[in-house]
Amino acid sequence: MASLYKVKIEQLNGVGKKRAELFNKLGVYSVGDLLEFYPRSYEDWTESANLLQADHGDTVCVKGQVVSAVNTGFTKTGKYISKLEVFDGENTIELVFFNNRYISSMLKYGETYSFYGKISRTLNGIQMISPEFSQNDSNNIHPIYNLTAGLTNRIVSKAVKQAMAMLPEKINDPIPKDVREKFDLCDLKFALENIHFPKDTNALEIAKKRLVIEELLVLNLGLRQLKTVKRENNANIVKKDYSKEFESSLPFSLTDAQKRVISECVNDVMNMEITLNRLVQGDVGSGKTAVAASLAYTVIKNGMQVAFMAPTELLAEQHYKTFKDLYKNTDINVSLLTGSLKQSEKNSVRSAVENGEAHIVVGTHALITEDTHFSNLGLVVTDEQHRFGVAQRGKLLSKGNNPHLLVMSATPIPRTLGLIIYGDLDISIIDQLPPGRRKIDTLLIDDKKRQRALGFIRQEVEKGRQAYIVCPLVEEGETELASAEEYAAELMLNYFQDIPVGILHGKMKAQDKERVMKQFSDNELKILVATVVIEVGIDVPNATVMMIENAERFGLSQLHQLRGRVGRGKEKSYCILVSNYSFGPSYERLKTMCTTNDGFKIADADLKLRGPGDFFGSRQHGLPQLNISSFADTKSLELSQKIADYVMEHSHYLLDDEYRGLKSKISRLFVNTGNNTLN
Ligand code: ADP
Ligand code: MG
Repeated sequence: MASLYKVKIEQLNGVGKKRAELFNKLGVYSVGDLLEFYPRSYEDWTESANLLQADHGDTVCVKGQVVSAVNTGFTKTGKYISKLEVFDGENTIELVFFNNRYISSMLKYGETYSFYGKISRTLNGIQMISPEFSQNDSNNIHPIYNLTAGLTNRIVSKAVKQAMAMLPEKINDPIPKDVREKFDLCDLKFALENIHFPKDTNALEIAKKRLVIEELLVLNLGLRQLKTVKRENNANIVKKDYSKEFESSLPFSLTDAQKRVISECVNDVMNMEITLNRLVQGDVGSGKTAVAASLAYTVIKNGMQVAFMAPTELLAEQHYKTFKDLYKNTDINVSLLTGSLKQSEKNSVRSAVENGEAHIVVGTHALITEDTHFSNLGLVVTDEQHRFGVAQRGKLLSKGNNPHLLVMSATPIPRTLGLIIYGDLDISIIDQLPPGRRKIDTLLIDDKKRQRALGFIRQEVEKGRQAYIVCPLVEEGETELASAEEYAAELMLNYFQDIPVGILHGKMKAQDKERVMKQFSDNELKILVATVVIEVGIDVPNATVMMIENAERFGLSQLHQLRGRVGRGKEKSYCILVSNYSFGPSYERLKTMCTTNDGFKIADADLKLRGPGDFFGSRQHGLPQLNISSFADTKSLELSQKIADYVMEHSHYLLDDEYRGLKSKISRLFVNTGNNTLN
């Protein structure tokens, strides 16, 4: 198997230079890559459809005999067309193919085939246009691959078939036999055969399970190895804990959860053996900033500097203000370093950072990558939004001074998933909100009540408040810009003629986005109409209404994030979900939003309803590209964790020979991330 990564895809019959380039586009360079290019979904050709009941537009399978000759000719527009009739035992259907001169040699009179395609009901009877077909196919479940223009599913399937034939009789399985037996996993060969060309649904499930587990295991073990990178020198050790001193400078008392998390962090930075690598998870408003500020205070009092990174300039400015405020009773110097400062200002901040006068510097990511030199950087605090990719982590660690790292996340993640996604970090959870928080009232309405909702928004604005409105999602063929602008224009014309409304959408330049966000946070704009780009973490306490159109199209966690933009001030806040669904799973999801404000409960429900795909897919977790894990469920997440524990117990650094295959998988997964701490 390993050697097939060295065989270029061009080696396959029917794959020339041009097609190879198309495969490359899909991330497939070698025969080995192709074997790991798993289908996106499957078509089940097991059941032949009842043609009389099939509707126009249905995609169905028909098993039938060719009962006519193949008629060929040209359409008015000059396309080559082939037509033939097929009888399924009860009804006759006409098949139509375009621009394929080989149909008459592929489909023979009197023979029986399975056809799979869309039903079209015309005046002349039932037709199927360009169906896929196969004969005497013992495999009834057909793979559907991700494609790119120029590559058809047939071409990819054929290439995979060839690749499969190149597999040696015995292949080295990265999961050792004893592990497979203990945890009831099939071997690699069976898994590959049945993920591409399943014998039946049962075999497909077994194959899928095995491959999902393997990928999660590889990810999990790789991340664990990152975590166990030991501190190499005694840099950045904190000798004295100043968190009590900091606490007494605050205008409020910390919650028990905040105190607990602070002490978990302080323990790490005072530990001779390790570097702090910790994720602080806490729902919106749980007071993560105060926790970071406390740790930073201790680190600074021990003579080191802190870098605080925010995803956007606007958020950096906001955090800068927050830190200035939190440290106002202390002797700590807070600096801001962003791209939009004047060159002279940047220079003076940089020199303050370099000579150590600046104790904590808040800025964007550029802060640590650009030529900013710290006199003694001891701690980096970063937002999950741009949590270091595994690659960047390596860079940071190799900056020489090996600073502590604290990652803050407002996205509650179910425990099973967190253990995997954040396998390289220790996790602390702030599971308590500061006292006196008011629940955000969440309402689910349909189209008919939209007008009333907009009237309510007007009332709030007239009381001096602000509101967010999340646009309907883009329809097919429409650009995001057009739809956002059209929607906003309609609101302004019909409802908010006299109210300043701003628009924010994904196609805007970063600079324009920031300008609009700033106008909103300066209360110049009263209503912000946005596609989903509303920056996570944006803090406008005066905003009290969040209205979300097409709410059914969002995941629960996303809705929870959006809702977290309101309820940040003293005033009562509201979240209005607009959706015309009145039953079914989408409706149930929205109902969950109305009944709980607890992010962890919502994340659990989301994982159950939608699987972990969203969590794995999102770039913000900084994970390497995964292949099949979006098919995982809670059970496979737990199982992979269990197996990883078992493997670590039996072969601590994967040193045993039987783990060689697994080790090289880990390197492969992390290889493009440029991280070399794994070997
Ligand atoms: P988040 O976890 O969303 O980042 P913040 O750190 O921004 O939350 O805190 C939200 C608000 O709560 C801030 O105004 C902060 O000053 C305040 N706050 C934080 N901790 C406490 C506390 N223990 N008691 C009262 N208010 C607090
Ligand atoms: Mg925050």
